[in-house]
Amino acid sequence: MRGVIMHTAGDVRVEDRDDPKIIEPTDAVVRLTATCICGSDLWPYRGIEPADHTLMGHEYVGVVEEVGSAVETVEPGDFVVGSFVISDNTCEICRAGFQSKCVHAEFVHAGIGTQAEKARIPLADGTLVATPGRPEPELVPALLAASDVLGTGWFAAVAAEAGPGKTAAVVGDGAVGLMAILAAKQLGAERIIAMSRHPERQKLARYYGATDIVEERGDAGVAKIKEMTGGHGAHAVVEAVGTQEAFMQAVGATRGGGHMGYVGVNHEVQIPGIELFFAGIHTLGGPAPVRRFLPELIQLIWDRKIDPGRVFDLTLPLEQAPEGYKAMDERRATKVLLTL
Ligand SMILES: [Zn+2]
Repeated sequence: MRGVIMHTAGDVRVEDRDDPKIIEPTDAVVRLTATCICGSDLWPYRGIEPADHTLMGHEYVGVVEEVGSAVETVEPGDFVVGSFVISDNTCEICRAGFQSKCVHAEFVHAGIGTQAEKARIPLADGTLVATPGRPEPELVPALLAASDVLGTGWFAAVAAEAGPGKTAAVVGDGAVGLMAILAAKQLGAERIIAMSRHPERQKLARYYGATDIVEERGDAGVAKIKEMTGGHGAHAVVEAVGTQEAFMQAVGATRGGGHMGYVGVNHEVQIPGIELFFAGIHTLGGPAPVRRFLPELIQLIWDRKIDPGRVFDLTLPLEQAPEGYKAMDERRATKVLLTL
């Protein structure tokens, strides 16, 4: 089969890989229908994380081709959406809703690589969720978004406790930030402030439910949020970037007693303890337990109540994945869908 391999930073190739096979009785082999490039794939692409002939990709939807003897909830022919973290969905941590911290957790990007024609998914029962039937082609991008960006944005909005009567603020207008806006709206937030400087993304933010746009960043961004909220700050703040400035902007924009959900993968962010201490806020973040939300998100997409698929603004065949990485790196694309 064909698959994306990052030889080293900036050097992405589509090459022949061995076809995956069932190894454990709990495995499934999925023939992928669509996959995509994640903002986090840019970390190794830019040399911030190591890359050495690394198999790429962790977002995926497709049709189950084969299952191991112990798999019970999905069968060959099922269309499935999977989380970017493998989980058993039965351990104590999973049952508490934190499948991304499962005792058997394994990151799909570390060794599986779903930017490929097929993937072996371990712990299929705990990782994959079948859709109610074969989706219409126009639903495929939305279902693919559920695999990571939607699930992650949703978790961030839940962690920030966005809801009725509340003001939410979202730091970051990338795919995850936009999905957090969608989630905050679905969860019933009264006012949703998108912190964004890009006209195109501001437009999409409004489409997904943003009521206000703030272009200021850092301390000026915090001051603006306070000014808009009677001096208090927002009730529910999402951090979806992962830089020092964005993280501290999110801390500063959260009102005392408010909630901050952080899902930007933060590299070398230093959080001054004293600022967090005096902020007096609830914080929850980390890799999103997407599996917790998948059944609900799939249903919302199936019933056409949400349209997360618009977050993909460039579609390329898998063979042109290198161009997709380049487009995202140069910010010509927010999120690239790869077709098979
Ligand atoms: Zn578990």
